[in-house]
Amino acid sequence: MKQMCSYLRLSLTDRCSFNCFYCGAGRRKDFLAPEDYLSPDELARLASLFVDEGIRHIRLTGGEPLLRPEVTEIAGRLSAIKGLNLLSMTTNGFLLADFLARHPKSGIRRFNISLDTLDRNRFRSCTGVDGLDRVLAGIEAAASCGITDVRLNVLLIRGFNEDEIEKFVSFGRKKNLTVRFIEYFPTQERRQAYTSLYVASEDVRDVIERSFGPLAPSACDKTSGPAQYGRLQDGGRVGFISSVTRFFCHECNRLRLTADGKLFPCLHAEHFLDVKTLLRQGAIDDVKTGVLRMAEGKSRYNKTVCSRFFEMSSIGG
Ligand code: SAM
Ligand code: SF4
Repeated sequence: MKQMCSYLRLSLTDRCSFNCFYCGAGRRKDFLAPEDYLSPDELARLASLFVDEGIRHIRLTGGEPLLRPEVTEIAGRLSAIKGLNLLSMTTNGFLLADFLARHPKSGIRRFNISLDTLDRNRFRSCTGVDGLDRVLAGIEAAASCGITDVRLNVLLIRGFNEDEIEKFVSFGRKKNLTVRFIEYFPTQERRQAYTSLYVASEDVRDVIERSFGPLAPSACDKTSGPAQYGRLQDGGRVGFISSVTRFFCHECNRLRLTADGKLFPCLHAEHFLDVKTLLRQGAIDDVKTGVLRMAEGKSRYNKTVCSRFFEMSSIGG
């Protein structure tokens, strides 16, 4: 693949067990029908084609990927693809302990667990589910299965959880996991009302440094997205994903495939390639050429010139 698209975010479903107030997965009315989904066979075939074209890291996401009934089969088949260096997953963690108890060797080597609050009542008001304990159990289960790469994604929203920054850093140190703070990016009907609700990464950094001392520079992770990292004085690591205050489109290495087989070069792009239809027509060469063209043309898309209305739950955050 000519440019730097080595990372595919693969949505397994647009459904979710939570209804986070900022995402709206549970409020949707237009969920995909079972026949719309790429089947495990199709996913395995497509993933191989993507790997042939230079993809080295595939992240399973959603909606909530652990809700997809065939998730174990899909993970097993994808992780066995030669040339794929990393299969990872972004999950809300609610079903993770059960999943890992049944499939400790699923082939998924890195888990990003989304958790925005450590307060039980707040958690319930954010997600609509009294599920904090189950998510915490998921984090423990990942550690007991020997999964060393667990990252906690904390979406900060002004007036909701910015008072938990230090609590999360301490939690990360105690559990030996990387906590990453994400700037909230308003989408859909929340565009207007929520525009000023992000918490700038620089402000988060200041809060952390006041309590834990200066952060030392820490290398970026080339296999993943645009997070920047800082090293705590005790050796722990924290990350920042500055979706609003830092322009990172020019260094983006991702393609995105929706659960119904639409390939997007960018969250903000209106243009997509219907790889499911091409695959079902047997037009494999067209899939390959289309993927290459999309990767090469990726630089045309960025959040300043595109304005597609999308929901994170349909394209994977
Ligand atoms: N359900 C899974 C989860 O929550 O991890 C996977 C899908 S979720 C859409 C992926 C990530 O997108 C989560 O970490 C979530 O916090 C983040 N996200 C959702 N809406 C967002 C927004 N408007 N701005 C920034 N991140 C967002
Ligand atoms: Fe579900 Fe993730 Fe959206 Fe929350 S952020 S509603 S867990 S898809």
